[in-house]
Amino acid sequence: MFDTLSDRLTSVLQNLRGKGKLSDADIDATAREIRIALLEADVALPVVREFIKQVKERAKGAEVSEALNPAQQVIKIVNEELIAILGGETRRLNLAKNPPSVIMLAGLQGSGKTTLAGKLALWLKKQGHAPLLVACDLQRPNAVTQLQVVGERAGVATFAPEPGNGVGDPVDVARRSIEEARRAQHDVVIVDTAGRLGVDEELMRQAADIRDAVTPDETLFVVDAMIGQDAVTTAEAFRDGVGFSGVVLTKLDGDARGGAALSVRHVTGEPILFASNGEKLDDFDVFHPDRMASRILGMGDMLTLIEQAEQAFDQEKAEQTAAKLGTGELTLEDFLEQMQAVRRMGPIGNLLGMLPGAGQMKDQLSQVDDAHLDRLQAIIRGMTPAERANPKMINASRRQRIAKGSGVTVRDVNDLVNRFFEARKMMQQMAGRFGFGAGNSATK
Ligand code: GDP
Repeated sequence: MFDTLSDRLTSVLQNLRGKGKLSDADIDATAREIRIALLEADVALPVVREFIKQVKERAKGAEVSEALNPAQQVIKIVNEELIAILGGETRRLNLAKNPPSVIMLAGLQGSGKTTLAGKLALWLKKQGHAPLLVACDLQRPNAVTQLQVVGERAGVATFAPEPGNGVGDPVDVARRSIEEARRAQHDVVIVDTAGRLGVDEELMRQAADIRDAVTPDETLFVVDAMIGQDAVTTAEAFRDGVGFSGVVLTKLDGDARGGAALSVRHVTGEPILFASNGEKLDDFDVFHPDRMASRILGMGDMLTLIEQAEQAFDQEKAEQTAAKLGTGELTLEDFLEQMQAVRRMGPIGNLLGMLPGAGQMKDQLSQVDDAHLDRLQAIIRGMTPAERANPKMINASRRQRIAKGSGVTVRDVNDLVNRFFEARKMMQQMAGRFGFGAGNSATK
């Protein structure tokens, strides 16, 4: 999903690392590369222009954070602007105060509406709702059966015109489905409408008539992320023809560029509510602009971590430590201080999961819990200041003394010291990869 865009942006941003200070020319060059990456990913031109303008202005402006080096600041700005383009806050589904709530789906044929109806129904059912699927796509020969099959798989009821009554009137079916929902106590009605291959006036009018008959709480425009630039023009046509309150991106599992879909929010002004990424009913999730942005930037939740660090750490200390990370001068005293600061940020398991590359370190991470950290802290406290500053001096007899003093075995002390050296090496490598340390010290 957005792999190419992600690769391009990550490498553009990585080129910044190690630079102590960014000149306007550096920023312009970076902005140019980001622009090309976005355009190649099919992001719509007005969106690209706006994005680049903001990034440039902010990067050249006086936004200086004490805790971040210039490269990290640009990463932070790009991330924040990406979140803004994707809609900012996560937008939740609006349900009516007085049930039944009505959710109407609109979009081109093949965009994934019927599949989405099932996904949405299952998702709502898991939250304790009792949805009713309504087949108003009476145009496509198999659409009703397809919805019924999807409904069965999701374990929810389907309302459809009785067979043998000719084609039937979709507006009438929609209206009757609300009565049925009231009768059978369904609290959410999901109306699947007829798709069209292209933008077609007649079908657009039908969708508008269904809308008027059922006054939806949400009209969701379903768009296939693989259709490229057409996503934007189609979205505009539906906005003008039917109107919608939210967008669902489908087929994000495809390897297509997908950038056009990312433009839909900015172009139409309506938020993206859900993302579909597969043919199975649970290949579906609420759309979180912030998570999507950090995914596109390929940095895990690195940025969340930076933010939390900015809040929890003593600014000056954090800078000193960050500078030391890159040079491998970290001491056990720093380690202890960082550990205490980290613990102020919340349970350790959550934090470690946010580190890039955490996936590969799963086994090691699973052994780290808060009790373990308490033990580590006790061991470090059992050391003299000289030992903390220069862990290399901790020889066998010192290890015995420390073990005794902090009530652990010599093996525990060995483990800690060995792991510390390993961690210091790893952090030095990570600092190299993500631009910590070197840049920070250069800004001084
Ligand atoms: P509709 O015409 O809008 O109702 O679209 P359908 O729900 O029939 O979907 C069209 C095709 O796209 C079907 O083959 C679906 O299985 C497939 N499809 C729907 N959503 C996704 C998705 O998120 N990922 C992938 N790979 N395929 C999907």
